[in-house]
Amino acid sequence: MPTTVHAWAAHAAGSPLVPHQITRRDVGERDVAIEITHCGVCHSDIHQARDEWGGSSFPMVPGHEIVGRVTQVGRAVKRFAPGDLAGVGCLVDSCRTCASCRRNLEQYCEKGAAQTYNGTEMDRKTPTYGGYSRAIVVDEAFTLRIRKGVDPAAAAPLLCAGITTWSPLRHWKAGKGTRVGVVGLGGLGHMAVKLAAALGAEVTMFSTSPAKEADARRLGAHGFVLTRDPANLGKLAGRLDLIINTISAPHDYNAYLATLAVDGVMVLVGAPPSSPPVKAFSLIGGRKTLAGSMIGGLAETQEMLDFCAERGITSDVEIIPIAKINDAYERMLRNDVKYRFVIDLATL
Ligand SMILES: [Zn+2]
Ligand SMILES: [Zn+2]
Repeated sequence: MPTTVHAWAAHAAGSPLVPHQITRRDVGERDVAIEITHCGVCHSDIHQARDEWGGSSFPMVPGHEIVGRVTQVGRAVKRFAPGDLAGVGCLVDSCRTCASCRRNLEQYCEKGAAQTYNGTEMDRKTPTYGGYSRAIVVDEAFTLRIRKGVDPAAAAPLLCAGITTWSPLRHWKAGKGTRVGVVGLGGLGHMAVKLAAALGAEVTMFSTSPAKEADARRLGAHGFVLTRDPANLGKLAGRLDLIINTISAPHDYNAYLATLAVDGVMVLVGAPPSSPPVKAFSLIGGRKTLAGSMIGGLAETQEMLDFCAERGITSDVEIIPIAKINDAYERMLRNDVKYRFVIDLATL
């Protein structure tokens, strides 16, 4: 039987989130039912609830950094049993047959993967609802294992902020002997610093705020560059192998490209609303690459969760009751969070 589940939803672009009820499907053969205990609050929740990217569908229950406890599994489910901790990230299904899906790159599914919220299931009809809710039913193939003993609240942001930074660090082989720059110390940036440092890279944090230096070093950064003075960037000319750029406000890419060594790569994981101009010579001199990356596939997300469990890596979080979600959005827009809000869904 489908079940009615309490949630919080936005009913129109920009209207505050309010209590709402949704229906979750019956637990099918390959499904895992999860009682959600925690859900991280991602910047993209705000963008979509306010329809800032266009095409949002309402009512919308945001949330794609979901952790909870398995309550029921379908008959064909092999990797989960009731009582296990489980996670759900940005995707709940994909076509599973296209070239991207066959390469475990479900995030780039050629048919368009099913987003955890503000989308539909692969039938293209049934709306999906996210983690600002008490329960979710997800196909086992899109459910992640969270190891016993991991703090579920602090692990929740790994499902989006964690994998979004892990995937490019792994793809471009950050590790011992590599020099990694991280631009912007927010939800994504703080995970990028922790993960790059744990992989053995020498990490340099770029920030506009001198107040962030102590925190950057505590998170694992070896160097700190205050970007307000462009001369500080000049001192790093030709030095870095890889930059993870998390900034979603317009800024000068050329200045950062100049800090790359020969064959260096700058990866964009933040999306400014307008395209900043890139000079061809910023790339030509030094055979440099400007690249982009979007979340990660299911296998890679599991790899990241296991790595974090082994190393004791989690996100720095501030836990809030669901009733504070609208305030939390306002505080995030003021950068007033270190570094991720996580909703305690027992308060719903
Ligand atoms: Zn996200
Ligand atoms: Zn596909």
